[in-house]
Amino acid sequence: MNFKVFIVSLMAICCLVVPISEAQSSLNTVTMDDDIRREPWLTYQKLLTLEKTFSAMNIEQQLWWLLNKAQSEHLLYFFGEFKNTVADAQQLVDQETPIEIISRLNVYAGIAARLNVEYAKSEHYLTKALRQAREKNLNQLYVQGKLELAYTHGLNELFETSLIDLQEAYLQAFALEDHFLVAAINETYGAIYGYMREYEKSITYYEKALDTYEQLGYRAHIAEAIYGIAASYRYWQKYDLAIEYFELYQKKMLYVPNVEITFHGAYALGMTLAERGFCERALFVIEQALSLKGIIDYNAELYKRQASCLIALNEFDKAEIAINKAIGIFDSLPELLGTTWHLEVFKVLSELAYAQGDFGLAYELMTDYYKKYTQVLIDNSASRLLQVRATMGVERQNIELSLLQQRDKVQQLKIEQQQQQNIHQGYLMFFGIFLSLVSMGAFILQRRNTKKVMALSIRDSLSGLYNRRYIFEYLRKILNAKSTKESKLSVLLLDIDDFKVINDNYGHPVGDEVIKKVAEIGQMTLRNEDVMGRIGGEEFLCILPRIDESQCEAIAERLLGNISQHQFITDQQQAFYITVSVGFSSLNKSTLDEKELYVQADKALYSSKNQGKNCVTMYIDSMG
Ligand code: GH3
Ligand code: MG
Ligand code: MG
Repeated sequence: MNFKVFIVSLMAICCLVVPISEAQSSLNTVTMDDDIRREPWLTYQKLLTLEKTFSAMNIEQQLWWLLNKAQSEHLLYFFGEFKNTVADAQQLVDQETPIEIISRLNVYAGIAARLNVEYAKSEHYLTKALRQAREKNLNQLYVQGKLELAYTHGLNELFETSLIDLQEAYLQAFALEDHFLVAAINETYGAIYGYMREYEKSITYYEKALDTYEQLGYRAHIAEAIYGIAASYRYWQKYDLAIEYFELYQKKMLYVPNVEITFHGAYALGMTLAERGFCERALFVIEQALSLKGIIDYNAELYKRQASCLIALNEFDKAEIAINKAIGIFDSLPELLGTTWHLEVFKVLSELAYAQGDFGLAYELMTDYYKKYTQVLIDNSASRLLQVRATMGVERQNIELSLLQQRDKVQQLKIEQQQQQNIHQGYLMFFGIFLSLVSMGAFILQRRNTKKVMALSIRDSLSGLYNRRYIFEYLRKILNAKSTKESKLSVLLLDIDDFKVINDNYGHPVGDEVIKKVAEIGQMTLRNEDVMGRIGGEEFLCILPRIDESQCEAIAERLLGNISQHQFITDQQQAFYITVSVGFSSLNKSTLDEKELYVQADKALYSSKNQGKNCVTMYIDSMG
């Protein structure tokens, strides 16, 4: 499998879903594509009978009817009617018209503009149709629009652009596995290569198209491809083959009673026969064509050929009549005066003079003809050059446009990149701020932790009171301080009574709660300058500066009272009370250090316990 085939197969796989969805959508619509292509004339007749019901249709139905009519008219060469139908349909379009209808209509509007030789307008409509078809995933319609655009570009001599359009259309049609579209593209390739004077290629493509059309049984398309082949053979000067195909074309078009088509068939055949030198047959066919009253300037061509053939057959009088008819037509068409078509009249007149033996006139006419003809060729080549330049200009503009678009894209990308960078910078800034906040937080936290560590080293974690080490240190410091030596100070020891029983009765956690509550009541009862610490399990030491024995006794009693009045309630709603025993000692001249004072208080506490607990005892020397 080569690369191209691989890509195409890949596209075919990717687009497998598309034909299904479009097939479904066409069920809902009233398109008659297949009927029209198979039997354009009969379908057109059917459509015309439906015209009576037009006013009873809703707008959408009316539009579909007009679209089908336009399509038939186009295939049947009723170009005047076709243009009118497209214009009628355009009048009906409003904001509610489905895009599928609008895009189809735009394809036809593009064709109509092309028939009027308005290529820019044609391109405008077709480009619009392509955009709409792409938006709505109308793939078949997209390909149709693309190939019509290719044809418009080809007529405008933008051959490269046209071939690029066709290439894209071809790949899509192939992926859609739409044989009709592939054939229509091949037919357009045939036409474009014909314009490019690459007749062999042109014929090959037309033949491919013809083969498919025959398989599909699409009458109008079969005839069209045959005409294309014939025309390419004619311009290639392979007249015999051209004649064969033109005759075939005439036969294929017999099903449609369109005088215009019959005229075209007869015209092309008659002209080719004359060019080949088959004058008798040519005259017969030319007579036929002229009787059809076709297009007037084509008639002038026919009269010139008729005159030439009549000269060849030595029928000079008839030849003179024929050439005068041609001159009459050119006189009525001032825009054609001086063209090669008009100048050819003088060549025929020269031939006639020569045949009649008037060599002087023949020579005069011939030199005049060649002089003028050469001038026209020079002018034409100049205008052709201009045309080529204009074509190149348009193509260059296209390239510039795509370059601009590329540049826009690059710029857009740059902007996006810049935005991305800004976002990154934003992130960076945010991250930076976040980092400093985190480090600040970390710093604060660390400071707090340091404080906490320090606090922990002096505090008891359960009660939040000063711990044993710190409270003794504090007592030592305060006793060493000069000012305290002369002043008063009391040390109070407090021990919870029968704490073991509380733990046993209510559990260790309740015991912890009791310790915390005692610490709390203790601090509430004491003054701010008093210091309380936990020196053992359920044993507390309080240092009361500037408090003498009697004051301390009162405080101790208050403490005892507050604690014993507090009602504890467990989680199981068990209420209980506790009692504490207190011993205290106050500073006097005999007290030497903190250890001594504590020991005295402990002795007093011991005394309280011995007295039956829930009481306060002051240290007295007799306890020593
Ligand atoms: P007394 O009235 O003679 O003081 O008797 P008591 O039971 O209070 O004293 P004892 O010294 O016999 O028991 C103290 C108990 O305190 C022993 C120990 O299990 C408990 N204890 C010590 N520290 C803690 C603590 O932090 N939490 C709890 N729940 N119990 C503790
Ligand atoms: Mg105790
Ligand atoms: Mg104890």
